[in-house]
Amino acid sequence: MGLFDTIILKEPFTCTSCGNIIINTQTKAFSNTLSYYQIGDIVKENQIITGIIKEDLFCEQCHDSSSNIYITLWNSLLTGIYYKRSEAEKELFHIDSGILLNHILRHQEEAEYITEKYNKLANLIRVYYEYCESSNKDTFFENKFMSIACHELKEFVNTGNPLKCIVESLDKKVEDDT
Ligand SMILES: [Zn+2]
Repeated sequence: MGLFDTIILKEPFTCTSCGNIIINTQTKAFSNTLSYYQIGDIVKENQIITGIIKEDLFCEQCHDSSSNIYITLWNSLLTGIYYKRSEAEKELFHIDSGILLNHILRHQEEAEYITEKYNKLANLIRVYYEYCESSNKDTFFENKFMSIACHELKEFVNTGNPLKCIVESLDKKVEDDT
């Protein structure tokens, strides 16, 4: 079985055969690296730079694939997913600059979020490693300049399971932000 990529639909599609709600579909037209794509993403390693890709819309519940979607690419940017070819053709060359900016903004916000999360993880792990290596754990937090990560880790160590707390703290951050 070959690899594929997944396209997240702009709006859920109701299967015309069984009524199942389809929220994404697979394609082999892109890089086939099990990546997820949504509108506003750059599609790398794709044969089509600007154009329309016709793709089957597969229903996992009844295995119907008689419906199609039309994916528009503009300079490798996935700009739209349409159920009618005529709509895809109409929209392809009329990209609004405001919409382009929104795509950039979303990517920037996602990058900032991931960077923030990574920094938090890296700082906590670094301090925890220093703590584990420390010859005198009882005074570790007293002797040290207390960074935010230090303060957090001190609490985590007190619970007896700091690694669990680190994982929960990262998961919590996701919930808080979504
Ligand atoms: Zn179906």
